[in-house]
Amino acid sequence: MTADVFFMDLKTTSKENLPQKLSRLIKKAGIKTVLKEKDLTAVKIHFGEKGNTAFIRPVFIRQILQTIKEFNASPFLTDANTLYVGTRSDAVSHIHTAIENGFSYSSMDATPIIIADGLNGKSETKIPIHQKNFKDVYIGAEIVAADALISVAHFKGHELSGFGGTLKNLGMGCASRRGKLAQHSNVSPKIKRKTCIGCGQCALHCPGQAIYLEEKKAYMDRTKCIGCAECIVRCPTQSINIQWDQTVPVFLEKMMEYTLGVLKGKENKSLFINFITDISPKCDCLPYSESPIVQDIGVLASTDPVAIDQASADMVNQQAGLSASVLKMNLEPGQDKFRGLYPDVDWEYQLEYAQDIGLGSRDYTLKKLKTLSYAKE
Ligand code: SF4
Ligand code: SF4
Repeated sequence: MTADVFFMDLKTTSKENLPQKLSRLIKKAGIKTVLKEKDLTAVKIHFGEKGNTAFIRPVFIRQILQTIKEFNASPFLTDANTLYVGTRSDAVSHIHTAIENGFSYSSMDATPIIIADGLNGKSETKIPIHQKNFKDVYIGAEIVAADALISVAHFKGHELSGFGGTLKNLGMGCASRRGKLAQHSNVSPKIKRKTCIGCGQCALHCPGQAIYLEEKKAYMDRTKCIGCAECIVRCPTQSINIQWDQTVPVFLEKMMEYTLGVLKGKENKSLFINFITDISPKCDCLPYSESPIVQDIGVLASTDPVAIDQASADMVNQQAGLSASVLKMNLEPGQDKFRGLYPDVDWEYQLEYAQDIGLGSRDYTLKKLKTLSYAKE
């Protein structure tokens, strides 16, 4: 079945600014069919790690909240705590970071932030899904308890999944600590000591404090590794690696199964929005952002989580790569930018598997919003 994906570019006129256009986009995409009066509506976003600057601008999130309120629903902003020791690993630091990044009561139209898996990541609900890798998944309790779900994802590159969009925002982003660990459990890198120069970058950035140096060589305590892959991207000599061909497909399958669990019971109560702007090569969980790999494209909205990610990936790949970025391969329009960044990651597999388990369709029809203007403009 073909799914509709609605698209707005970033052109504006004096008749309609970008936040107004965004509101029109999500109405077109069917927010009215998703929400009813008084629905407690989880708006799943990523508040950005402290120091990151690529996350979605608060002014757009406020507009989404105001649009939800037009339907007399009750939105709250949410995300689940992280696995690694960063600035969002418990509810207190998470909310502090969110406020520092601009998501305060005053800027968010007095909308509360409710961290989905509670103070320390243990507030979770077990959802039976009976899939290949998991019989049950563990999701942040407040997201499960919500009547409706609006996912607002920043579409960008990602070290382990090639790209991160709606499917990752849901599958990984809504999982409790136990759920995140279960998804990462087979991602355990190995160190090639022959080429290790003992620079210590891996140990410095390892969120699990799993790496230590002895006689100028790196060693790993596997019991502490949370499989985040940060050490792989930090190593300047490519001395840390995983078995990409075996590890990544299983990781992607697990993440898609978690997405299935998040949406269980909310099949007709969810809307997905992807911002294809500030398209950084890596995740917003990092405490910095690298320059974008392609120019800003626009925003997509759909009720199909697979179609929206497929359309987003296609639109990024249609662009010319920006040579000032870390992208050094596949810069021509039409070439695969995610393979250019991460040649070992088969990003398409997550879409294929998501479709196979019934999450949505890779076939889509792109419906472009017209830019409104006054006759003379
Ligand atoms: S994947 Fe690497 S950086 Fe991440 S926890 Fe394991 S050893 Fe540390
Ligand atoms: S980052 Fe790479 S080269 Fe540096 S200590 Fe770690 S494994 Fe060795």
